[in-house]
Parts: sequence; C-alpha cells; structure tokens
Amino acid sequence: MKNFSIATLASHTSLQILKGAKDEGFRTLAFCINKNEQFYRNFQFIDKLVTLGNYRELIGLEKKLANSFVIMIPHGSFVAYLGKDFNRQTKFKYFGNKKVLEIEGNRLLQKKMLDSAGLKLPLTFLSPNNVDRPVIVKTFGARGGSGYFLAKDKAVLKRQLKEKQLEPGKYLIQEYIIGIPVYIQYFYSALSRKLEITGVDRRYESDVDGLGRLPAEFQLDLKPEPDYTVIGNFPIVLRESLLPQIYEMGQQIVNSSKIMAAPKGLFGPFCLETIITRDSTIYTIEISCRIVAGTNLYIKGSPYMDLLYDIPMSVGRRIAREIKQAIKQRKLAVILT
Ligand code: ATP
Repeated sequence: MKNFSIATLASHTSLQILKGAKDEGFRTLAFCINKNEQFYRNFQFIDKLVTLGNYRELIGLEKKLANSFVIMIPHGSFVAYLGKDFNRQTKFKYFGNKKVLEIEGNRLLQKKMLDSAGLKLPLTFLSPNNVDRPVIVKTFGARGGSGYFLAKDKAVLKRQLKEKQLEPGKYLIQEYIIGIPVYIQYFYSALSRKLEITGVDRRYESDVDGLGRLPAEFQLDLKPEPDYTVIGNFPIVLRESLLPQIYEMGQQIVNSSKIMAAPKGLFGPFCLETIITRDSTIYTIEISCRIVAGTNLYIKGSPYMDLLYDIPMSVGRRIAREIKQAIKQRKLAVILT
C-alpha cells in the first residue's frame, strides 16, 4: 500500500477524499492552482501539494507521474476544469468507470441509462406544441441550472422561446415536477457487490431559495427569473418508509449500467437527483456518476453510514477503504479504469 498515492484536484470534495485516504493509511497528493495554495497548505493530511498555473497543466505532468502508482479520484470539478476529453487525453488510473462518466456528460445517453433502469422520469416534450402542463426548459450547455426557465403553459412557453431566440435542438422541455428536491447519495462496491445508501441532502440554490424572502409585490414588480446556482447543501434524513424504495432504485441503476457501460457498469459513489411529490412518487432528474458535493456534509459520517460502520465513515474514506481492500485482494483491476 505504501507505493500508492491517492490524488485529486484540490476542489469540490478533495478535502474529504484526501482526509479519508490518509485515515485509511494512504499517501495523498493534491493538484492545486496557485491562487488556492495557501488555503490547501493548512491540511496536514495532504502529503504533497503540486501547484499549477491552470488545471490543464496536469496533462503535461502525466509522464512524470506514470510510474508512481497514482490513483486519481474524479469529482465534480474534473469536467469543469479539465474538459470532457481529459479522460481520453491522459492515462491516469481512475477509481470508477470512465465510461459511465462519459454517459453522465451526455444528456441523451444519461436519459437512456435512467430510462433503461426503469426509474420514473419527468416527461420530455419534443415540441412546444405538445405541452399541456407547466414545464422547465433546460438549455444545453447551461451549467448548474443557470439559464433554465419555467413556463406555466404552452402559450407562455412559446412566447419565451421567441423572446430568448432559442433554436430548436438547443434545449430540452421537461415537465415541471412540484415536490421537493432530494439528492440521494450511494456507494456500490464492485468488490463485495453491495450497495450502500451513504447520505441524503438538498441543495441551497441562489437565488431560487432566496425568492421566497421577497414580499409578493416585489416579486410581481421584479419578475425575477429563478437561477439555480448551488451555494451549499443541507442534510436530510428521509422517512424510513422511503428507504427500501430508494435502495431499490440504486440497485436498478447499477444493474442497468452494466449493459450501457459494459462490463463493469457503475460502481463507487454516485447520486440520484430526485424530486419527491406529496404522494411519495420519486422522479429522477439526473444522475452523477461520481462523488457529489453534498457528501461534504458527512465528513464525520451520515446517519446512514453510522448504521453500517463503527467508525466515522465519509464517502472519501469509503473510497479509500475500497481501494485498500482491492490492493489486499489483488483486485485493483476491478475498480480502476
Ligand atoms: P448540471 O446539469 O449542470 O449538473 P444541475 O444539476 O444543477 O446542473 P439540474 O439538477 O438539472 O441542474 O436542475 C437545477 C434545478 O432545477 C434543481 O433545483 C432541480 O431540482 C430543478 N429541476 C430540474 N428539473 C426539474 C423538473 N423537471 N421539475 C422541477 N424542478 C426541476
């Protein structure tokens, strides 16, 4: 084990990933951009901090690190900072399946994967003419929900599409689900073939979560267009009666991913973004096929991890533990791609 370093970009969930790796006995390595160096130097569990002018300089470092048993842990900032094609440009060993990360990055493939798992999804309207209920319009390429807009009916939708001069094919029209957003975090072990619910959270989004603070007359005057930029996360514990169903949903997506991302499918941490309605129907909006930022709530372990482990178990630590097990069982090839 002493030969291996667990590495990631210093951002998103890197602190819990590297702390968890250190707790499990690994050497740790963080790639950090210059301006954040001082902050990340505070943490003793980071053995080595490599500073970069920009993240893409990492591509040039690959050869230097090729023989040093670096295991990279992908997180939500990888695509944003390194680009979609980074996977293909480098040969870094990733914990997780690069194929599912590519599926996640493509809206249509992602929908196909969720559909084939038999999960309940909001309806998609192929044309504004078919719209018969409130909808949310998701512009392609919009990040973090910014640029999304709502329309209460067909007429409003058509007017807005015209005003915004959006061309067909550049957006998705989806049924707007009234309920509450719930983000369900899972971990699937490719070694033990067991699924764990690791935590549940909701996002605190600016400014959609702030609009309710405006008096109604301000809202009418200002006509604010909600934006969904994530600022932080809140913990949630779900009604226990929902747990068997959400466990089953996680199992379904793991099973169906073995076909689309054959042969390994989805493993490691992932998250289903859902909206749960008043009659407890669970709609799945999106999937993240890697560790999500909401797990940062549970560096000391979530209520669900507490039921499964006798020590505080973050998702970062759970990843390191899986890698440790794989090294012991000589099964690293099962969990790295
Ligand atoms: P990205 O796709 O870049 O990761 P994101 O995950 O932030 O962005 P979404 O999850 O697609 O974006 O949605 C942003 C917000 O819109 C969330 O609060 C989500 O709950 C809400 N939302 C998305 N789709 C629907 C829907 N069909 N009905 C109701 N609310 C929705």
